[in-house]
Amino acid sequence: MAVTVLAILFLIMIGFIALIGYKTIIKGGPAKEELNVEKCSICRNRFEKNLLMLRQIGDYKLLYFCKECVMKLYADLGLKN
Ligand SMILES: [Zn+2]
Repeated sequence: MAVTVLAILFLIMIGFIALIGYKTIIKGGPAKEELNVEKCSICRNRFEKNLLMLRQIGDYKLLYFCKECVMKLYADLGLKN
């Protein structure tokens, strides 16, 4: 009798784990879309990666800049010259 109860609990546990795994996979969908979104290093707004300019700083640091900030930097450069 105790073995049957354990077996049922085991099955419930497996069902629960499968459900969590399933939900994780469903949540994995939008998370993959999140991978295409990065923060601009200057204004901290989120943009799609293809709208951002990627620059490597030093050996490892990758910084993203949005078009608006790049234009602002360009304008600042123009004012100085
Ligand atoms: Zn920006």
